[in-house]
Amino acid sequence: MAKKQFKSESKRLLDLMINSIYTHKEIFLRELISNASDAIDKSYYKSLTDNSIVFNKDDFYIRIAVNEDERTLTVSDTGIGMTKEELDSNLGTIAKSGSFDFKENNEAKDGVDIIGQFGVGFYSAFMVAEKVTVISKSIGSEEAYKWESEGADGYTITSCTKEKTGTEIIMKIKQNTEGEDYDEYLDVYNIKSLVKKYSNFIKYPIKMMVKKR
Ligand code: ADP
Ligand code: MG
Repeated sequence: MAKKQFKSESKRLLDLMINSIYTHKEIFLRELISNASDAIDKSYYKSLTDNSIVFNKDDFYIRIAVNEDERTLTVSDTGIGMTKEELDSNLGTIAKSGSFDFKENNEAKDGVDIIGQFGVGFYSAFMVAEKVTVISKSIGSEEAYKWESEGADGYTITSCTKEKTGTEIIMKIKQNTEGEDYDEYLDVYNIKSLVKKYSNFIKYPIKMMVKKR
Protein backbone atom coordinates (compact mmCIF):
# COMPACT_ATOMS: atom_id res chain seq x y z
CA MET A 1 0.00 0.00 0.00
CA ALA A 2 1.67 3.18 -1.19
CA LYS A 3 1.82 6.07 1.20
CA LYS A 4 0.21 9.33 0.22
CA GLN A 5 2.05 12.49 1.08
CA PHE A 6 0.60 15.36 3.05
CA LYS A 7 0.21 18.64 1.19
CA SER A 8 3.20 20.86 1.86
CA GLU A 9 1.41 23.42 4.08
CA SER A 10 -0.09 20.60 6.11
CA LYS A 11 3.27 18.98 6.44
CA ARG A 12 4.71 22.07 8.08
CA LEU A 13 1.91 22.19 10.61
CA LEU A 14 2.32 18.49 11.19
CA ASP A 15 6.05 18.85 11.77
CA LEU A 16 5.29 21.53 14.33
CA MET A 17 2.94 19.19 16.14
CA ILE A 18 5.23 16.18 16.06
CA ASN A 19 8.20 18.12 17.37
CA SER A 20 6.15 20.33 19.60
CA ILE A 21 7.78 21.67 22.70
CA TYR A 22 4.45 23.14 23.67
CA THR A 23 3.65 22.45 27.30
CA HIS A 24 -0.11 22.28 26.90
CA LYS A 25 -0.19 19.19 24.72
CA GLU A 26 -3.42 18.20 26.43
CA ILE A 27 -5.34 20.56 24.13
CA PHE A 28 -5.42 17.76 21.54
CA LEU A 29 -8.32 16.37 23.55
CA ARG A 30 -10.24 19.63 23.24
CA GLU A 31 -9.69 19.53 19.47
CA LEU A 32 -10.84 15.94 19.07
CA ILE A 33 -13.89 16.41 21.29
CA SER A 34 -14.85 19.50 19.34
CA ASN A 35 -14.47 17.66 16.03
CA ALA A 36 -16.64 14.84 17.38
CA SER A 37 -19.26 17.35 18.48
CA ASP A 38 -19.15 19.10 15.08
CA ALA A 39 -19.67 15.72 13.39
CA ILE A 40 -22.79 15.08 15.48
CA ASP A 41 -24.04 18.60 14.74
CA LYS A 42 -23.67 17.84 11.04
CA SER A 43 -25.83 14.71 11.41
CA TYR A 44 -28.40 16.79 13.22
CA TYR A 45 -28.48 19.46 10.51
CA LYS A 46 -28.70 16.82 7.83
CA SER A 47 -31.65 15.21 9.59
CA LEU A 48 -33.57 18.49 9.33
CA THR A 49 -33.64 18.32 5.54
CA ASP A 50 -33.23 14.61 4.91
CA ASN A 51 -36.19 12.51 5.98
CA SER A 52 -34.23 9.29 5.76
CA ILE A 53 -32.19 10.40 8.78
CA VAL A 54 -33.80 10.22 12.17
CA PHE A 55 -32.02 12.18 14.85
CA ASN A 56 -32.73 10.07 17.88
CA LYS A 57 -30.90 11.87 20.68
CA ASP A 58 -29.81 8.68 22.42
CA ASP A 59 -27.91 7.50 19.35
CA PHE A 60 -25.55 10.46 19.37
CA TYR A 61 -22.66 10.53 21.78
CA ILE A 62 -18.91 10.80 22.15
CA ARG A 63 -16.93 7.97 23.66
CA ILE A 64 -13.46 8.09 25.13
CA ALA A 65 -11.61 4.85 25.79
CA VAL A 66 -8.28 4.19 27.44
CA ASN A 67 -6.39 0.97 26.89
CA GLU A 68 -3.25 0.93 28.99
CA ASP A 69 -2.02 -2.40 27.63
CA GLU A 70 -2.11 -1.24 24.05
CA ARG A 71 -1.16 2.34 24.97
CA THR A 72 -4.14 3.68 23.06
CA LEU A 73 -6.50 6.53 23.72
CA THR A 74 -9.58 6.50 21.48
CA VAL A 75 -12.08 9.25 20.83
CA SER A 76 -15.15 8.07 18.93
CA ASP A 77 -18.35 9.69 17.82
CA THR A 78 -21.56 8.56 16.18
CA GLY A 79 -21.64 11.66 13.98
CA ILE A 80 -21.67 12.13 10.23
CA GLY A 81 -18.49 10.18 9.46
CA MET A 82 -16.22 10.56 6.44
CA THR A 83 -16.14 8.89 3.05
CA LYS A 84 -12.85 7.66 1.61
CA GLU A 85 -12.54 10.93 -0.35
CA GLU A 86 -13.30 13.00 2.75
CA LEU A 87 -10.68 11.17 4.79
CA ASP A 88 -8.20 12.00 2.08
CA SER A 89 -9.11 15.65 1.61
CA ASN A 90 -10.06 16.57 5.19
CA LEU A 91 -7.15 14.91 6.95
CA GLY A 92 -4.54 15.24 4.21
CA THR A 93 -4.89 18.98 3.79
CA ILE A 94 -5.43 20.53 7.17
CA ALA A 95 -4.28 24.01 6.19
CA LYS A 96 -7.53 24.18 4.26
CA SER A 97 -9.51 23.93 7.47
CA GLY A 98 -11.27 26.98 8.78
CA SER A 99 -9.56 27.09 12.13
CA PHE A 100 -6.00 27.32 10.98
CA ASP A 101 -4.68 29.73 8.43
CA PHE A 102 -1.05 28.84 8.18
CA LYS A 103 0.95 31.99 7.64
CA GLU A 104 4.44 32.02 6.18
CA ASN A 105 5.67 34.46 8.80
CA ASN A 106 4.74 32.14 11.63
CA GLU A 107 7.20 29.58 10.44
CA ALA A 108 10.15 30.97 12.32
CA LYS A 109 8.37 30.68 15.64
CA ASP A 110 8.57 27.52 17.66
CA GLY A 111 4.90 26.76 17.54
CA VAL A 112 3.98 28.09 20.94
CA ASP A 113 2.20 31.17 19.69
CA ILE A 114 0.52 29.37 16.86
CA ILE A 115 -0.92 26.71 19.09
CA GLY A 116 -2.02 29.24 21.66
CA GLN A 117 -3.72 31.51 19.18
CA PHE A 118 -5.58 29.09 16.97
CA GLY A 119 -7.48 25.90 17.26
CA VAL A 120 -4.92 23.68 15.60
CA GLY A 121 -7.33 20.87 14.97
CA PHE A 122 -6.86 17.24 14.17
CA TYR A 123 -3.07 17.26 13.75
CA SER A 124 -2.68 18.16 17.43
CA ALA A 125 -3.16 14.43 18.07
CA PHE A 126 0.41 14.02 16.83
CA MET A 127 1.68 15.96 19.86
CA VAL A 128 0.93 12.90 22.00
CA ALA A 129 0.60 10.03 19.52
CA GLU A 130 3.27 8.20 17.54
CA LYS A 131 0.56 6.82 15.31
CA VAL A 132 -2.98 7.98 14.60
CA THR A 133 -5.62 5.71 13.09
CA VAL A 134 -8.97 7.07 11.95
CA ILE A 135 -11.75 4.61 11.21
CA SER A 136 -14.82 6.16 9.68
CA LYS A 137 -18.15 5.24 8.15
CA SER A 138 -20.03 8.03 6.45
CA ILE A 139 -23.73 8.56 6.98
CA GLY A 140 -25.77 6.55 4.50
CA SER A 141 -22.78 4.49 3.41
CA GLU A 142 -22.18 0.78 3.85
CA GLU A 143 -18.43 1.10 3.48
CA ALA A 144 -15.88 2.05 6.09
CA TYR A 145 -12.28 3.20 5.68
CA LYS A 146 -9.18 3.38 7.79
CA TRP A 147 -6.76 6.31 7.59
CA GLU A 148 -3.41 5.67 9.24
CA SER A 149 -0.36 7.83 9.77
CA GLU A 150 2.79 7.81 11.82
CA GLY A 151 3.39 11.44 11.04
CA ALA A 152 5.15 13.46 8.41
CA ASP A 153 6.04 10.57 6.11
CA GLY A 154 2.49 10.32 4.87
CA TYR A 155 -0.65 8.27 5.34
CA THR A 156 -2.53 5.31 3.96
CA ILE A 157 -6.24 4.74 3.43
CA THR A 158 -7.56 1.20 3.31
CA SER A 159 -10.95 -0.40 3.34
CA CYS A 160 -12.19 -1.87 6.65
CA THR A 161 -15.34 -2.71 8.54
CA LYS A 162 -17.22 -0.64 11.09
CA GLU A 163 -20.66 -1.31 12.45
CA LYS A 164 -21.97 2.16 13.23
CA THR A 165 -21.88 5.40 11.31
CA GLY A 166 -19.30 7.76 12.75
CA THR A 167 -15.62 8.15 13.40
CA GLU A 168 -13.07 6.60 15.71
CA ILE A 169 -9.72 8.30 16.34
CA ILE A 170 -7.22 5.86 17.83
CA MET A 171 -4.03 7.39 19.21
CA LYS A 172 -1.07 5.19 19.97
CA ILE A 173 0.43 7.23 22.80
CA LYS A 174 4.15 8.04 22.63
CA GLN A 175 6.62 6.48 25.05
CA ASN A 176 7.80 8.67 27.90
CA THR A 177 11.01 10.54 27.29
CA GLU A 178 13.30 12.13 29.82
CA GLY A 179 11.65 15.48 29.44
CA GLU A 180 8.10 14.44 28.75
CA ASP A 181 5.52 12.28 30.47
CA TYR A 182 3.09 10.81 27.95
CA ASP A 183 1.71 8.16 30.31
CA GLU A 184 -0.60 10.83 31.70
CA TYR A 185 -2.66 10.48 28.52
CA LEU A 186 -3.34 6.88 29.50
CA ASP A 187 -4.27 7.81 33.05
CA VAL A 188 -8.02 7.58 33.44
CA TYR A 189 -8.26 10.17 36.22
CA ASN A 190 -6.22 12.65 34.25
CA ILE A 191 -8.26 12.04 31.10
CA LYS A 192 -11.48 12.43 33.05
CA SER A 193 -10.37 15.75 34.42
CA LEU A 194 -9.26 16.94 30.97
CA VAL A 195 -12.61 15.91 29.55
CA LYS A 196 -14.31 17.91 32.26
CA LYS A 197 -12.12 20.89 31.50
CA TYR A 198 -12.68 20.79 27.75
CA SER A 199 -16.29 19.71 27.45
CA ASN A 200 -18.03 22.74 28.95
CA PHE A 201 -19.76 23.67 25.76
CA ILE A 202 -20.31 20.20 24.38
CA LYS A 203 -23.99 19.40 24.26
CA TYR A 204 -23.69 15.66 23.66
CA PRO A 205 -22.98 12.98 26.26
CA ILE A 206 -19.36 11.92 26.70
CA LYS A 207 -18.96 8.32 27.82
CA MET A 208 -15.78 7.11 29.39
CA MET A 209 -14.56 3.53 28.91
CA VAL A 210 -11.66 1.89 30.68
CA LYS A 211 -9.86 -1.32 29.93
CA LYS A 212 -8.10 -2.41 33.11
CA ARG A 213 -4.69 -3.89 33.00
P1 ADP B 1 -11.67 22.11 11.69
O1 ADP B 1 -12.41 21.35 12.75
O2 ADP B 1 -11.35 23.50 12.12
O3 ADP B 1 -12.34 22.08 10.34
P2 ADP B 1 -9.70 20.04 12.05
O4 ADP B 1 -8.25 19.98 11.73
O5 ADP B 1 -10.06 19.91 13.49
O6 ADP B 1 -10.25 21.41 11.47
O7 ADP B 1 -10.45 18.94 11.22
C1 ADP B 1 -10.31 18.91 9.81
C2 ADP B 1 -11.53 18.32 9.15
O8 ADP B 1 -11.56 16.91 9.32
C3 ADP B 1 -12.87 18.80 9.71
O9 ADP B 1 -13.27 20.01 9.10
C4 ADP B 1 -13.79 17.65 9.33
O10 ADP B 1 -14.22 17.78 7.99
C5 ADP B 1 -12.89 16.45 9.40
N1 ADP B 1 -13.05 15.74 10.70
C6 ADP B 1 -12.19 15.76 11.74
N2 ADP B 1 -12.65 15.01 12.76
C7 ADP B 1 -13.85 14.50 12.34
C8 ADP B 1 -14.84 13.63 12.92
N3 ADP B 1 -14.71 13.16 14.17
N4 ADP B 1 -15.92 13.33 12.18
C9 ADP B 1 -16.08 13.79 10.93
N5 ADP B 1 -15.20 14.62 10.32
C10 ADP B 1 -14.09 14.96 11.01
MG1 MG C 1 -11.56 20.95 14.62
